[in-house]
Amino acid sequence: MSNSLSEKSLVLLKPDTVQRGLVGEIITRFEQTGLKIVAMKMAYASKELAGKHYAEDEKWLLSVGEKASKAAMSRGEKPAGTPLEIGKRIRTQLMDYISMSPVVAIVIEGHNAVLTVRKLIGPTSPENAQPGTIRGDFSHETYVMADSRGRPIQNLIHASESTAEAEREIKIWFRKDEIHSYIRVDEGLIYR
Ligand code: ADP
Ligand code: MG
Repeated sequence: MSNSLSEKSLVLLKPDTVQRGLVGEIITRFEQTGLKIVAMKMAYASKELAGKHYAEDEKWLLSVGEKASKAAMSRGEKPAGTPLEIGKRIRTQLMDYISMSPVVAIVIEGHNAVLTVRKLIGPTSPENAQPGTIRGDFSHETYVMADSRGRPIQNLIHASESTAEAEREIKIWFRKDEIHSYIRVDEGLIYR
């Protein structure tokens, strides 16, 4: 963990958050921690933008596919292909999902921003997310539901999993001059 006070995370409030009117509720969760919003906009993701965000990165495709395989096997089902095939299929579904209606893109900044945001959102599938997390409190989605509908898990939110992922993703959604630098009045206390 770095000691940087300007560590950044990219958060997307996915179409289900916007459609369900949960934008304010969810942004509040981040603000309450003391982390700072330094960029925010509503955007319609084109297929091209969606494809850049969910990049064809083999490591990520495998990790998504492996998570799906494990979930299928834990239900006593045979995974529907190799992890890479499943990962690719989910990526295609994600590109449709993320461009279904507007999303809200946010850059959140502060000490330990990436891990703090991931902790607040909870694990990928809301069925595994504890109450108190965003995915646990605002959804009862399951792998079974997503698989049976042939769509991705609707889990309200995307958040960068590492600082390297954040750096790559922020560039996709924001120009440099859209990211603001300012001091919040509570920083004197938080970072004293
Ligand atoms: P996270 O959003 O928790 O970082 P991943 O990066 O592994 O999760 O996956 C990206 C998104 O793909 C998830 O948020 C979810 O919407 C979708 N997804 C992941 N795994 C599955 C799956 N097995 N079935 C359907 N959708 C999935
Ligand atoms: Mg991820």
